[in-house]
This record gives sequence, C-alpha cells and structure tokens, in this order.
Amino acid sequence: MKFIADCMLGTLAKWLIILGHDVRYFRRIEDAELVRIALAEKRTILTADRRLVQRRGARDHVLIDSHDLTRQIRTVLVAKRLRPRRDGLFRRCVRCNRPTRAVARAIVKSLVPPYVHRTQRRFRRCPACGRIYWRATHVRRMLQTLRARLRPCRPQIRLDRGANRS
Ligand SMILES: [Zn+2]
Repeated sequence: MKFIADCMLGTLAKWLIILGHDVRYFRRIEDAELVRIALAEKRTILTADRRLVQRRGARDHVLIDSHDLTRQIRTVLVAKRLRPRRDGLFRRCVRCNRPTRAVARAIVKSLVPPYVHRTQRRFRRCPACGRIYWRATHVRRMLQTLRARLRPCRPQIRLDRGANRS
C-alpha cells in the first residue's frame, strides 16, 4: 500500500512506515504538488485538510479527523482494510522510506547500544542511510494497542476459529 501524507501528518507517516507501508512525506509541499505526486505514483493521500480532498485528482484519500495518533493509524488501516503485522515492522526506513535489509546481529554490535545488542535478536538496516532498526519496546506496545483496537472490526468467524484453537 502506497501513501502520501500532508505536512500536518508527520507522526502518522512515520508510524505507517514503521508498520511496513510505503509513505512519502514532505515537511513543506503545495497541495497541487502533493496531488500531482499522488496521481503519478498511485498513492493514497492522507490529509486532515477538508479542502484538499475536494481537489480534482484527490479522490483516493483518507481524511484524518483526529489528533490522537492511535486513532489516526486505526482510521487508515480500517479505510484500506490493512492489518498491522508483526513481520511487516521496519521493512522500510523511517528516515528515507527505502526498503530495509536484515543484517546479522554480530555486524551491528558496535553500532547499537550494548543493552539493545544484548536483548534483541533481529536487526534491519537501511541501505541508503545506514540507520539500524530493531523491535523496541514502544513499537511492540503500539502494535499491541493497534491490534487490540482493531479487534472489534474482525469478522466474528475469525474470533470463533481462534477460540477453538486455544
Ligand atoms: Zn534510511
């Protein structure tokens, strides 16, 4: 799923990237340019601006009407029928939106804090900027929150199946 987020939604953009989605974000961009890129790259526009979504070419959009981050993420996931997946985490670089690559734990030893190296098993690295990612506690917590908040939207049959398995 590909998105482009307006200037107001930097934190939402960051979290959608953490969840593995391709999101372009500019600190400053004219509305017309944002719509042009969205059309050219077939991206869904994420915006809190009701005027922007009335523009021709902005039909594929998700209107964000909350300041609460979890609610914002939930709005996007529900609108696009996406589910937060643990294996999707950090598939892209938060800084440059490029796909990251798995990197061996031994290689990152001198590059991450000792505690992180001791406690984490899996790491990913951005080939463009070199930034290293791991599943930090706050990210796991956000994923849990999102999964909990999305639960009522799941079809009943899935819940039943889950209950049978346990
Ligand atoms: Zn990067």
